[in-house]
Amino acid sequence: MTDISTGPTSLSAGLRCRCPRCGQGGLYSGFLKIAEACEVCDLAFDFAEPADGPAFFVMTGVGIAVIAAWAVWVVAAQPPVWAQFVTVFPALLGGCLATLRPVKAWLVAEQYVRKAGEAQWLSTGAHGKAPASYKRKGW
Ligand SMILES: [Zn+2]
Repeated sequence: MTDISTGPTSLSAGLRCRCPRCGQGGLYSGFLKIAEACEVCDLAFDFAEPADGPAFFVMTGVGIAVIAAWAVWVVAAQPPVWAQFVTVFPALLGGCLATLRPVKAWLVAEQYVRKAGEAQWLSTGAHGKAPASYKRKGW
């Protein structure tokens, strides 16, 4: 088993779509389907739940970059509309498809490094007493 202190950085593991602990095993078993466990170090990937975060970041980043480049191109060169359709839509689609896997892998690696999980109540209120409105069996 690989020690976490010698493992890859989350960015390195993400960009290569590799296991966040060892950096060698593949993270995916399909295009965006996360494998059940690393085939090298047996790290179970059941903690990985980036939800729609990767899609949001990819659509936002690629959208801003492509639309900014398109706006500069339109102002500077005034291309015909058909040329804009032929270039901008494939650029948006291709940019999103090219970056979605590494961004999702990076977010999964960040979840692993930061031990992210579902939110939980860590405090029951001041001095160990639960707030009056908080009703729980056994208190
Ligand atoms: Zn691994």
